[in-house]
Amino acid sequence: MEAKKLNVKEKYRLLTRDLDWEFSYEDRKEAFPYEEFEGIKITDWSKWEDPFRLTMDAYWKYQAEKEKKLYAIYDAFAQNNGHLNVSDARYVNALKIFLTAISPAEYAAHNGFAFTGRQLGGIGARIAAQMQSIDELRHIQTQIHAMSHYNKHFEGFDEFSHMHDRVWYLSVPKSFFDDARSSGPFEYIVAISFAFEYVLTNLLFVPFMSGAAYNGDMATVTFGFSAQSDEARHMTLGLEIIKFLLEQHEDNVPIVQKWIDKWLWRGYRLLSVVAMMMDYMLPQKFMSWKEAWELYFEDAGGALFRDLERYGIKMPACAELIAKEKDHLSHQTWWTFYTFGHAAAFHTWTPSAEEMDWLSEKYPDSFDKWYRPRFEMAAELAEKGERFYSEGLPQLCQTCQIPMFYTECGDDRPDDTCYRSTHYQGERFHFCSDHCKDIFEDEPEKYVHAWLPVHQIFQGNCGGADLADVMKYYKLNDGAVNADYMGSSDEQRWKALKGIA
Ligand code: FE
Ligand code: ZN
Repeated sequence: MEAKKLNVKEKYRLLTRDLDWEFSYEDRKEAFPYEEFEGIKITDWSKWEDPFRLTMDAYWKYQAEKEKKLYAIYDAFAQNNGHLNVSDARYVNALKIFLTAISPAEYAAHNGFAFTGRQLGGIGARIAAQMQSIDELRHIQTQIHAMSHYNKHFEGFDEFSHMHDRVWYLSVPKSFFDDARSSGPFEYIVAISFAFEYVLTNLLFVPFMSGAAYNGDMATVTFGFSAQSDEARHMTLGLEIIKFLLEQHEDNVPIVQKWIDKWLWRGYRLLSVVAMMMDYMLPQKFMSWKEAWELYFEDAGGALFRDLERYGIKMPACAELIAKEKDHLSHQTWWTFYTFGHAAAFHTWTPSAEEMDWLSEKYPDSFDKWYRPRFEMAAELAEKGERFYSEGLPQLCQTCQIPMFYTECGDDRPDDTCYRSTHYQGERFHFCSDHCKDIFEDEPEKYVHAWLPVHQIFQGNCGGADLADVMKYYKLNDGAVNADYMGSSDEQRWKALKGIA
């Protein structure tokens, strides 16, 4: 008898539902030890709707096809010296941030989804998480391969992995993922799949990919497109998990709401670096941070949260503050990196006169009043050979680990730095905002032992007391990777390549 050929739906049913089994002689709770401690109640895993139906053989086939196309373009890019087509070598600094801050986060996501793909009790959710785990591994690999070409021509790429675990500003993305994957499986998937991927991902990937397209970087555009179809699956998983948890039990609603509030805020804090990249680092700009926030969060996210109201979920309270910060975020972030640019693995610079005009136009209520004067002053000093760097080390927020440079925007006092603090077991802890303070107070034990880079430097755990010692510990080539773009080896090499006198 001829074997019956299965259709995709049938195959998928067999892959998921049929691979699961009942526990007859082992305790199911021991098989899934993390399923209950977060307080989430699952009454019936069979109610899980698979957000996409993809069998393993179809998955490998699609992914292999994508890889083949992607690597053909990488080869062509390398052979044709594609780096020569970027708008300006200043652009490459955005890629340094991507490789050192975002790519290792892909790896952390891979790890987190492997954990979730083991620990969720429902087979459909487990399969989806396992596939995403493999996707994330692919993402970091394709990103490293895309950047390897730039590594041949520019500084600041080669020690990305070593840097990620040590460099002060990289503790922000690192701690974001470490804090997410050291929670339980449900919190992890709500944090990453929903708050980060479903709600915020457009604010991360669109800026980098459109930025790449506007600035002639075909290698980055191509890996962006290649990751996009994976990303579509990840986003549907994010929405499905939320609906599933909310429909399973009403007791899940406040827990899920708390996680959304927390991870939307943490995700937004992480995006500060994207805001500055868009407004200050792209030689060819395509959209301001403020416009992107309005389009992707206020419009799209607003509709989403109106949709979720029927489950009892509300728009996170932090959205109000974020709306006020959108006029200030990129300027304050770039200024901080500009003044600490001697200790970073990418170059900084003052915006040109035309760029400042663009910023005035995009930020009519804030740029000229608060930020133009200081950038003009910095440019003037640099012109005189007195490029300004901050000599101290900034205090860091105990929760998000970002230097305390945010201001009292919520209170309409954008010139006053925002400080919050609290006591826990006889010690005082510091925060950048009410939201970071609330997150700490809800779960202090999770954050008291945070590895804060500045504290570690002061405690002598980062190679020594001088900047030169710390740079060595970071494996940053002092004088090559850091400081102003003006006069850097990147700039000299670029001018030589392009034949600019
Ligand atoms: Fe990814
Ligand atoms: Zn904070």
